[in-house]
Amino acid sequence: MGFPKSAVPGPQELSVQTIPFNRPALVGREKEYMATVLDGTSFASVGLFHKRCRAWFADAYPGVRTFLTPSCTHALEAAALACGLGVGDEVILPSYTFATTATAFARTGAKLVFVDIEPGTMNIDPACVEAAVTGRTRAIIPMHYAGVACDMERLNRIADRHRLWVIEDAAQALLCSWRGRPLGTLGHFGAFSFHETKNIHSGEGGALMAAPLHAGLCETVLEKGTNRSRFLRGEVDKYTWESLGSSYALPELPSALLLGQLEAAHAVTAHRRRLWATYAEALAPLAVAGRIDLPVVPPDCEHNGHIFFIKTADTTERHHLIDHLKAAGIHATFHYIPLHSSPAGRQLATFAGEDHFTTRESLRLLRLPLFYDLREDQVRRIAASISEFYGMKRH
Ligand SMILES: *Cc1c(COP(=O)(O)O)cnc(C)c1O
Repeated sequence: MGFPKSAVPGPQELSVQTIPFNRPALVGREKEYMATVLDGTSFASVGLFHKRCRAWFADAYPGVRTFLTPSCTHALEAAALACGLGVGDEVILPSYTFATTATAFARTGAKLVFVDIEPGTMNIDPACVEAAVTGRTRAIIPMHYAGVACDMERLNRIADRHRLWVIEDAAQALLCSWRGRPLGTLGHFGAFSFHETKNIHSGEGGALMAAPLHAGLCETVLEKGTNRSRFLRGEVDKYTWESLGSSYALPELPSALLLGQLEAAHAVTAHRRRLWATYAEALAPLAVAGRIDLPVVPPDCEHNGHIFFIKTADTTERHHLIDHLKAAGIHATFHYIPLHSSPAGRQLATFAGEDHFTTRESLRLLRLPLFYDLREDQVRRIAASISEFYGMKRH
């Protein structure tokens, strides 16, 4: 409006010329479901759509209890409360993660202990976890980067030996598995994110997964620290405040959006995996030539195509490649700046052991566009632009 047409490209021209890093999509019956909520009388949580989302999870994730939350951050906070963490306790987690993996646990007063990652997957290194365990350690927080599983067998073995809680930050790992078992269900608690940057979204939203044995703890925390759910089921005759908690339930409107997305979740995942595989195939010659590194997916890991990254030689080369891609209308971006070098991380946490890979690898990592509406030909165009940067022809 008011601009000459040539100065501001319309949506049509934009989609042809530029490729954004991410674009949240509507993939199913979201609008219809949200209209149903708006036409009705129930807007708070645990209405029809909230229940239908939970039914989807009961089907896709049998044997665990699912609670829908306003975000993954809230789910992690609830897990931290359910574990009863507090001052004097230590929690082991990677430094290469999103800030709320740390802050959800730091706010209990527990001390954060960061450890190094494995360079291929960017996931927490179990050997570093083992070395960081002390008499005060209470929990391990594995984060499955890009939906590729951490080595849960070794982590669970360490946890069993030292009687530690395991809380999976599975924010990126919906519909991923490890040896056929779903991520988010391999520890005591798991947390998913439905932020609009994730594969399946409700604008913002999350889920807390709990092993049946620990689901009762979660229920109280999520119900504002009250016994409301048990009261409504007729299991207790008084409605009362029992513990710390908060208002941690996902309302109906985002639940309706989420249900539309969940119903298409398997198709969305399959599509993203195809795009991921196209990147891997198109960029293989550059990797073989030693110009870049590609992500490592260990055997037995079924990922969900959440992130495709490459690694440049160093941060200067990454900077130049980002500029090169930007000039071609392609938006690529780096990822986490290690938390141990952040102001809050320096104050609230320590790094146990050596930082061999966390800083070095995070400086080389570059994420390429990957979203539902991205097309195969666009993936090939992006790969061609990267090959051009390295002076290599693609066939
Ligand atoms: C997205 C993300 C979160 C936070 O999710 P929200 O739903 O936005 O709170 C936490 N951890 C990781 C690893 C994430 O990728």
